[in-house]
Amino acid sequence: MLGGAEEIGANCCYLNLDGTGIFIDAGLHPRDRTEKAFPAVDLIGNRETDVLLTTHAHTDHIGGLPYVMRRFPHLRPIMTHATRDLSHVMLPNGARLLKTEISDHVPKEWLEFYHRDVIEQLRYAFEAIPYGEPLTLRGYNGRSDVKATFHWAGHILGSAGISLANKGFSILHTGDVQFDHQTVIPKATLPRHHVDVLITEATNGALEEMSTIAAETKRLAVFINSISERNGSVLIPCFALGKMQEMLALLYSMMRKGSIPYLPIHTGGMGTRISKIYDQYCYSDPMRRPGFEISDVPQEPIHRFDLDTGSYMKTPSIVLASSGMVNPGTISFNLAQRWMSKPRFGIAFIGFQHPSSPGYQLMNSKPKTPFDLAGTRVSRTCEIERFRFSAHASREGLVSLAMDVRPSTVVVMHGEPDACDGLALEIRERLPGTRIIIPRLGVPYVLDSTQEYLSV
Ligand SMILES: [Zn+2]
Ligand SMILES: [Zn+2]
Repeated sequence: MLGGAEEIGANCCYLNLDGTGIFIDAGLHPRDRTEKAFPAVDLIGNRETDVLLTTHAHTDHIGGLPYVMRRFPHLRPIMTHATRDLSHVMLPNGARLLKTEISDHVPKEWLEFYHRDVIEQLRYAFEAIPYGEPLTLRGYNGRSDVKATFHWAGHILGSAGISLANKGFSILHTGDVQFDHQTVIPKATLPRHHVDVLITEATNGALEEMSTIAAETKRLAVFINSISERNGSVLIPCFALGKMQEMLALLYSMMRKGSIPYLPIHTGGMGTRISKIYDQYCYSDPMRRPGFEISDVPQEPIHRFDLDTGSYMKTPSIVLASSGMVNPGTISFNLAQRWMSKPRFGIAFIGFQHPSSPGYQLMNSKPKTPFDLAGTRVSRTCEIERFRFSAHASREGLVSLAMDVRPSTVVVMHGEPDACDGLALEIRERLPGTRIIIPRLGVPYVLDSTQEYLSV
């Protein structure tokens, strides 16, 4: 692992299969802005580097791609069609994040990899492939073919789990995966036959049980109703890619079923551009309701430079704004600051909050009790509630995948330490005798001990 070992970081996994060097994902760390923001590619030494397979377009999986591609310009970048289109919006955004937040520890020339023209050119190299069709890869020093297949992962538009096969040896990498239906996106259809190695994400591995989308929807309706009945507005900070589209579809269906009133919904910025890409794929990619377009949901724009006079300040409304973790300088951060002094207003947290993020500080604050928000001492009177609408599989879902594919080795990644431990322990109990690795950053592991070529 060159990132994403015992954390949700600059996710990047390196595999060497009979002389073909394969990177899976090249992410940007969600919070760290030192050199750890990028995948630690130097740790692979002079091993072969041939292809870069991208599982999906979230920044923690694709944001480090310009950096990795500049370090290894000969790499062949491969992804699904939708991920390629989403990268057009996500990569420039990653570049913006880096430029505004990067620390002095990072060599300035690294930022040149994120220059607009460089990213623009880079995208011409992206190779898009359909789901389910095996692709033959063989690196410059590769001694035999590797077959790579992308499978629907049920996480966001374009998301894929990737299977690799070489000389009878097989690996399944889940990427970020969800085995339950969301509102827009249907559940994953990863292969369930035997593989030798399962490399699995573990985001929710620490949670014994997860509440269902139906139960959380009910709670959300109660929250929105209580705020709107007293003439307040609800702010929902959410990731622009995935969460924003799921929330729009969910709120609209709640309104149509009558569980909440028809309130104006405000959205804006990058989320709107991403919704358009969702709509372009509403027939061709897996969708729960083929043909349903996010743009069918009535929405009013947020005016970034005029947040104080938005009609949501006077009329009960729902505001969906990124960033999901309420990072300083974003619309959700600026609106949250305005919400905090309004006892009639409410903030609903719906997704993952990194422990170092302002979203985490706000979500764990107590009313009328001073706390630190991005370095400033503040207190709040607005209401805050936390909901779980996960785009990631439950621990049980991941364990059941492991039970079906019966791997000899399981590699657990993409989770905080307690999540990795939680999933690893459960698999150990249910599949005794399975070798379980919680990999350390940069430490090489031999996955197929019968094959000499894999020794390190
Ligand atoms: Zn993701
Ligand atoms: Zn992720």
